[in-house]
Amino acid sequence: MSQKFDIVVIGAGPGGYVAAIRAAQMGFKTACIEKYQGKEGKTSLGGTCLNVGCIPSKALLDSTWKYHEAEESFKIHGIAVKGLAMDVKTMIARKDTIVKNLTGGIGMLFKANGVTLLEGHGKLLANKQVEVTGLDGKVETVAAENVIIASGSRPIEIPPTPLNGDTIVDSTGALDFIEVPKRLGVIGAGVIGLELGSVWARLGSEVTVLEAMDKFLPAVDEQVAKEAQKVLTKQGLNIKLGARVTGSSTKGKTVTVEYTDTEGEQKITFDKVIVAVGRRPVTTDLLAADSGVNMDERGFIFVDDYCTTSVPGVYAIGDVVRGPMLAHKASEEGIMVVERIAGHKAQMSYDLIPGVIYTHPEIAWVGKNEQTLKAEGIEINVGVFPFAASGRAMAANDTTGFVKIIADAKTDRILGGHVIGPSAAELVQQIAIAMEFGSSAEDVGMMIFSHPTVSEAVHEAALAVNGHAIHVANRKKR
Ligand SMILES: Cc1cc2nc3c(=O)[nH]c(=O)nc-3n(C[C@H](O)[C@H](O)[C@H](O)COP(=O)(O)OP(=O)(O)OC[C@H]3O[C@@H](n4cnc5c(N)ncnc54)[C@H](O)[C@@H]3O)c2cc1C
Repeated sequence: MSQKFDIVVIGAGPGGYVAAIRAAQMGFKTACIEKYQGKEGKTSLGGTCLNVGCIPSKALLDSTWKYHEAEESFKIHGIAVKGLAMDVKTMIARKDTIVKNLTGGIGMLFKANGVTLLEGHGKLLANKQVEVTGLDGKVETVAAENVIIASGSRPIEIPPTPLNGDTIVDSTGALDFIEVPKRLGVIGAGVIGLELGSVWARLGSEVTVLEAMDKFLPAVDEQVAKEAQKVLTKQGLNIKLGARVTGSSTKGKTVTVEYTDTEGEQKITFDKVIVAVGRRPVTTDLLAADSGVNMDERGFIFVDDYCTTSVPGVYAIGDVVRGPMLAHKASEEGIMVVERIAGHKAQMSYDLIPGVIYTHPEIAWVGKNEQTLKAEGIEINVGVFPFAASGRAMAANDTTGFVKIIADAKTDRILGGHVIGPSAAELVQQIAIAMEFGSSAEDVGMMIFSHPTVSEAVHEAALAVNGHAIHVANRKKR
């Protein structure tokens, strides 16, 4: 007889594993199906984020920033370093240990919460039956009251630069280089391309980023994007906008990439190329023809605002559905779905999902940006505070960037927060909390912020919205 569960989750990424744990906490008999095999040839939980995404990229970003600081900025503190060197293999091994510990930790959380792990490939059949093909090829069918699909996404491949696992790689390959490529090409100036480009540029790669669009970081506030482009270029990322890749040829250990820009056809030779043009939803062999679940025209599973699919009792969350492809979005959708299954009235604040780019300076935002609000015809007041005027940032020798808060001119309600600079993600989270509670710029301005902290830049930007900043000259009110 097939096993029966209240909730079966397909995929153990940040969407799926969080949903499974919450479901078990709420007393549901829960199973989670995962097929991914980690470096050691064993099932590894945590999905893209833990295995080949958020965590490994941040581990390398942190290691390489320390190296960069030792090389470039220690002297200003009076610290002399002799014989500075980066052993790439040790750096990669440290990253692998972090991944191993975290993915193993999810296994322990599953055990502690009573989630049944089914190792293998899950496929949704009709009537909420799920077929699990084990790693040994054995097939079993489990029955579910509710199914949550959380199958995630994978990198988009493009015909001009087919991956070869050596000189042309995707983001996963770029996290495992065993030496610093002398000339590195990155196709795509999105979040992933900029983070991975930064990692290797800090260790000495000559990095060229080829971006087909004419605009840099179009989803980011224009003032922030402009500053980011300036700073990242100064850090050695040669960002070429309007550069459309048309072909490539591999010769020995090098790749020549062809692209067109406003000046015509161009060629450039690299030792490694990272293809980082975006990610697509994973639905391979996921849905039986009669499962009843619909997809949209771009291959995402079609869901409503509550992640409900076209089949009652079947939900889909995370990268496999519409919305930003971010781990925290996937996890919160998982929680919402489980709580709704339990009869709660949970819902997501889709307007308040923060975005972060973990370059240095870090870039983060929440809510709407200035160009969008202007296009929508909303009258706004803007407050900006530069880190160059922050005592804490000066002490840390980290004064690039600013905090920008945008408020509705009529109500003073905060509509967006945008930061480039130290601890940008943490500062934006403060603004997000304020926005969740409907704060005005004045509300934040009236709060007490510790001194000296970089958080004071949020306080001052909020005061600047209405022309009351203390530590910077305020814009004259018209
Ligand atoms: C290099 C990189 C850096 C990133 N950095 C960040 C970051 O800093 N912050 C952030 O928020 N996001 C980041 N992301 C994005 C983040 O990783 C994803 O948004 C997140 O992992 C999505 O979670 P998910 O649960 O929807 O899917 P995934 O994490 O992709 O997990 C899906 C899981 O389902 C499994 N699966 C798929 N189909 C089946 C099936 N049929 N049967 C069984 N198992 C199946 C897969 O093996 C996988 O483990 C990054 C991504 C990359 C590539």
